[in-house]
Amino acid sequence: MNDIRVRFAPSPTGYLHIGGLRTALYNYLFAKKNGGKFVLRIEDTDQTRFVEGAIENLIDSLHWAGIQYDEGVFVEDGKIVEKGDFGPYVQSKRLNIYRKYVDELIEKGHAYYCFCSKERLDAIRDEQKMKGMVPKYDGFCRNVSIEDAKKRVAAGEDHVVRLKLPHNKDIHFHDLVRGDITINTNDIDDQVLLKSDGFPTYHMAVVVDDHLMGITHIVRGEEWLPSTPKHIYMYEAFGWEKPTYVHLPTVLNKERKKLSKRHGDVSVDDFKTKGYLPEGLVNYLALVGWSPDGNEEILTMEEMVEKFTFDRVSKTGGIFDKDKLDWVNSHYIKSESLERIKGMTLPYLIEAGYMDETFAKENSGWVDVLIETVREGLSTVTEVVDKVQFVFEEDLLYESDAYDEFLNNENGRILMESIVKEAKESEEITMDNAKDFMKKIQKNTGIKGKNLFMPTRVALTGSAHGPELVNVLYLLGNDKIAERAQKVLDIID
Ligand code: GLU
Repeated sequence: MNDIRVRFAPSPTGYLHIGGLRTALYNYLFAKKNGGKFVLRIEDTDQTRFVEGAIENLIDSLHWAGIQYDEGVFVEDGKIVEKGDFGPYVQSKRLNIYRKYVDELIEKGHAYYCFCSKERLDAIRDEQKMKGMVPKYDGFCRNVSIEDAKKRVAAGEDHVVRLKLPHNKDIHFHDLVRGDITINTNDIDDQVLLKSDGFPTYHMAVVVDDHLMGITHIVRGEEWLPSTPKHIYMYEAFGWEKPTYVHLPTVLNKERKKLSKRHGDVSVDDFKTKGYLPEGLVNYLALVGWSPDGNEEILTMEEMVEKFTFDRVSKTGGIFDKDKLDWVNSHYIKSESLERIKGMTLPYLIEAGYMDETFAKENSGWVDVLIETVREGLSTVTEVVDKVQFVFEEDLLYESDAYDEFLNNENGRILMESIVKEAKESEEITMDNAKDFMKKIQKNTGIKGKNLFMPTRVALTGSAHGPELVNVLYLLGNDKIAERAQKVLDIID
């Protein structure tokens, strides 16, 4: 029987960060590859940071990215529901469970009540800082007898419960990415496990839940590495089997700083609205900190599942390189079906005012060519708006070098005169006969090759580089072609 179980355990404090998406992705890949189960648990013990709608947004982002889980919290018909045998999967619904385990730790002498006031804690912290020490609880309440403590609690005195770490004990654990790690308890604080409001802290809840939910591998960001010895100690105190730990390198920007909102896009939503395909974002994100055996860069989800192992996850931060993301995304824009890319780009074309729904329906074939013509050069689907602008532009601007070289001369004039005439007289230009149109111009003017194509391109698109001329001719149609060639004649010296 395969009983690998992993979890993604976000706190509903806002949008899903791109680093969080990668953590979820690695959990998913590992579970899938090994036939295990993947759980989504919501860690909302810090109620002050709860953001309305965050759970729904998180689930929506995972769904958009194609990351499926087997158990936990889902949204169905706009409502949050839970599925699985280990629920509840939302921590705020599990308060009575934590309380029981906090009491067990106290009874076993691994935790103690602490009555220190905020003023006292602030004072010791300030003093430690002044002495250049790392701030840490001084253990003042460790020696309050359990009988006294219980009396004070019963009398309603404000208190928290802290983990009672032994002095000077090395805690060892093995991390599948980081290797063997040893941390001495003298360097760790007596962590608060139960807050004065009766809520557990993350540390208490995470250990209890991972144990009760049968989690075998804890795959999470490396910012949790310093907390792991406390968790290990708690597993030992309870006499529970410890899970395997995997701490993932932080997602960094090119300056090797943590990706933060101040430095641009960080949420999955940001990338979604910028026009990235989920396949593109997920494929690229997998490579931020991991590489498959053959170092391939374009991989489907199935290929990633097949190739994923933790021994190819790097110890050091993964650099999030937007140019590389754009490159991967452009691959998917090129290779996905036109129908899908059209479905994604059309809303942006409508929003830009280039067309409305009715126009798009009635001129479906023309819109297909429009999108097909520019999609090669798109990094994101939103870029379509700029790329097709030349078709809709009323007053085309020319690249000044191109204008001087190709239009503002005798060759340009002869060519434009012929184009105006031919566009007015010839049959409607289609994709099939557009080449013949150019042949006629060549025949009428005796101009050919670069001298024919470059000025025509600049006159019709404003630029010396761009899409296939045949497509340009078809997309513009006779009237616009004549108009644009006439405009050149009106302005050249
Ligand atoms: N709730 C934690 C977070 O938001 C999860 C940490 C863990 O996976 O243990 O990052």
